[in-house]
Amino acid sequence: MRDDFSRGTIDVLFRRARAKCSNPACPTVTCGAHSEEDKAINIGVAAHITAAAPGGPRYDPAFSAEERKSPHNGIWLCQTCAKLIDSDSPKYTVELLRAWKTIAEAADEQEAARMAAFSTIEKMMPELLVEMRKDLTEYPLKREFILMRKSWSYGMAGGYQPLVYYYEDHDDLDDKIALLCDYRLVVDIAYNDVKRYRFTQGMADYLTQAS
Ligand SMILES: [Zn+2]
Repeated sequence: MRDDFSRGTIDVLFRRARAKCSNPACPTVTCGAHSEEDKAINIGVAAHITAAAPGGPRYDPAFSAEERKSPHNGIWLCQTCAKLIDSDSPKYTVELLRAWKTIAEAADEQEAARMAAFSTIEKMMPELLVEMRKDLTEYPLKREFILMRKSWSYGMAGGYQPLVYYYEDHDDLDDKIALLCDYRLVVDIAYNDVKRYRFTQGMADYLTQAS
């Protein structure tokens, strides 16, 4: 009996590796366009770190069937590297494959920096983000917002109303928005004396996904 991966697990491994072979010395892109327009080529394999069946490479009898076919026991490789790790299992140990996997899944520095930025702003301005999240959920197409005091009035031609955040509701509002600008999550679009900004699509996606 082989404990094969489900279609869903294969897909998770493919996406976690961002479609690239997880061997750091390889990292071949494992998908691409087929000459027929409605097809794509896949030369990737969801390989077992510990074998799917007794007698296979790195087989671990201590694993349950469930563990053996979980994403934790898989690594995304190109066909060549998948063959390589199984033909020389003393060299390609469980520990080595786990290290490859960790690197491959964390290799996207930009994504790591993006996640770090969101984690920082969640700590620095949780109430403001709650309000922004609520606004963008209610008005998914709005991107512009202004900063105001409650005593000020603001009208725009055509009756267009941007979102508004009030100084009375948020301490250090200018500094918080400046930080969002530093992280390139909002863009300053002021053209008169009103402080006016626009959410980037990345920020809007983040806020609406996390709600
Ligand atoms: Zn490879």
